[in-house]
Amino acid sequence: MPENISPLPDFTRWPSFPFEGDMRVKPLAAPVEVEPPRSGEDAADCVACNTPDDAYIWISERWRVRAMDRPTGLPMVLILECRSHLDIGDLPNLLAAELGVMTVRLERAIRSLDGVARVHVNRWGDGSAHLHMWFLARPYGRLQLRGTFLTLWDDILPVIPEQQWRENLALVAAWLAEFGGTAIAEPPHIQWESPSTINYSDTEPDTPATPPHTESARPASLDDVDPRQTPADHRDRAAQSATTSPDSHSRSVAGDTPLSESIPTQRAASTALGASPAGSAE
Ligand SMILES: [Zn+2]
Repeated sequence: MPENISPLPDFTRWPSFPFEGDMRVKPLAAPVEVEPPRSGEDAADCVACNTPDDAYIWISERWRVRAMDRPTGLPMVLILECRSHLDIGDLPNLLAAELGVMTVRLERAIRSLDGVARVHVNRWGDGSAHLHMWFLARPYGRLQLRGTFLTLWDDILPVIPEQQWRENLALVAAWLAEFGGTAIAEPPHIQWESPSTINYSDTEPDTPATPPHTESARPASLDDVDPRQTPADHRDRAAQSATTSPDSHSRSVAGDTPLSESIPTQRAASTALGASPAGSAE
C-alpha cells in the first residue's frame, strides 16, 4: 500500500454517512506557521456587527437570531448571535449565563415545530470571529440523518417548501418573543381567493401552483463563491472557504432577503427565488 493512502475510517460505514462508492482520504496538508485571521476579527469588518436588525428573525437587547436567506434541506437552520463583538471564550458572565438560557430556549422553540425530532447545537468558530451558534433541526423519523453528518445532509436533501419554512421562522420568532425581545419574522400572508379570482387563475394554465424547488433554489454554499468576486458582504464566506473548517457549513444569511417581508403570493415567492414566473404580474 502506498504510504499516502490511509484506510477509510469506520464512520464511512455508518448508516448516517451520506456517501458510498470508492473514496479515499485526502492527503493532509502541512500545518501553517501562522494562521490567517478569521472573517471579521475587527468589528469594523464584521458581517454580524454590520447587519441590520431587519435581517434577523428575532432580536433583543443583547441577542439576535438569524436564518439562511432561503429554505434548505432541513426543516430549520438558525444561528444565534450576541450583539457584542465577542467570541465564546470572551463572553462576560452575564452574556455567558444568557447564552445558556438562549440556547435552551431556542432548542425548545425549534423542537416545537411539526416534524422536528431533534435540534443539534454547534459552535465551530473557525470561519467568523463573532460568536455564532448553529441550531440544526433533524426531521422526525429520519434516523439516517442522526448525528454528525446532519450538516452535510442539509445540502443533500430536497429543499423544504418556502411557505412552510416561513411559517416555521415566524413560529420560532413568536416563541422567543414570548420571553422578551421582538419577533421580526412574520407568517406568510394567506392568499384568500374569491371565486372570481379563482376563475381568473384558470385563465393562466401555465402558472404552476407551487414553484418547483430545484438546485438553483439553494442558497449558495461556500464553494459556490469565487473569492475574487466577493469583496464586500461575501467576505465572510470567501474567507471561510479558504479554511478547511467544519464552519464551511456557513453560507449566505438573511441579509439579502428581509425575513420581515411577507409573501403576498406564491408567484412573488417564486420570483424572489429567481424562478421565472409563468404568469403576468398581478
Ligand atoms: Zn461582530
